[in-house]
Amino acid sequence: MPSIIGFIGLGNMGGPMAINLVKAGHKVLGFDLSEAALALLTDAGGEKAGSVADLAAQADVVITMLPAGKHVRQIYQGEGGILDNARSGTLLIDSSTIDVDSARAVSSAAEEKGMPMVDAPVSGGVAGAAAGTLTFMVGGADKAFEEAQPFLDIMGKTIVHAGGAGNGQAAKICNNMILGISMIAVSEAFVLAEKLGLDAQKLYDVSSTASGQCWSLTSYCPVPGPLPTSPANRDYQPGFAAAMMLKDLKLAQEAANSAGAATPLGAEASSLYALYCNSGGNETDFSGIVNFLRGVG
Ligand code: NAD
Repeated sequence: MPSIIGFIGLGNMGGPMAINLVKAGHKVLGFDLSEAALALLTDAGGEKAGSVADLAAQADVVITMLPAGKHVRQIYQGEGGILDNARSGTLLIDSSTIDVDSARAVSSAAEEKGMPMVDAPVSGGVAGAAAGTLTFMVGGADKAFEEAQPFLDIMGKTIVHAGGAGNGQAAKICNNMILGISMIAVSEAFVLAEKLGLDAQKLYDVSSTASGQCWSLTSYCPVPGPLPTSPANRDYQPGFAAAMMLKDLKLAQEAANSAGAATPLGAEASSLYALYCNSGGNETDFSGIVNFLRGVG
């Protein structure tokens, strides 16, 4: 049955996600600070809400896709926010990538108001958002997950219930910490190979079928040549921008500090990506860190 969906945060990711909900037959009310972002939704058949409060009061489901935890806290818990204006029973889905502590705090405030909530960050990037093939990592109670699933199915292909509130964010940052560390490891190996006179293709031929094999090598090889589809072959245009990787690595470090987990390689990866971003790598693909490492030696 069609629902009234309020969608807040219609940027690079939220815009195409909201449009897929319109295409599936739902009435989508959008809100964003950017008029240009709103226009893309209204051009596709969505409607513009006057304010967050107005949107929340009308919606059966509210979905948010915002930059960071502080925006999410403000939009849900701030004055004129979702929790003060939505009806009890309204389903809340936050798909932003944010810190675990904020996700858990907002979810518990929503629960107090009788509003089921899931944190449902994504991977798959802008292309996945447009194609409706995102992977959702979902945290929340079983019932909230069951209610959210039909909407997530429209925007994504793989939906994983990772456990209680905040566990979607936990799954996302743990995965991306593996990715950041492994990309640096693979990049260091290619830089060392160059200095030792070992051809990149030869290293690829060996490691892609040996114990060094990993996604950063065989699906996203950071040097041009061995894997024609990787961003290295198109001058490191993203893909997944280094600034996004740095954001996720910082979130992983915040979570590790808060939970008392030892993540020394995650800390090192976060420092290296900060140096790479500060040296001009921000907007390049995160595999471009290989060029930074080459320059350091
Ligand atoms: P974006 O900057 O393109 O979009 C964010 C939108 O939120 C903007 O349109 C902005 O105007 C709006 N916004 C900010 N504050 C607002 C407020 N107070 N009220 C209303 N609207 C507000 O960012 P994005 O690339 O769409 O990313 C959104 C989230 O998705 C982030 O948490 C990001 O980490 C995550 N993410 C992004 C990607 C990616 O490839 N871009 C991939 C996975 C996850």
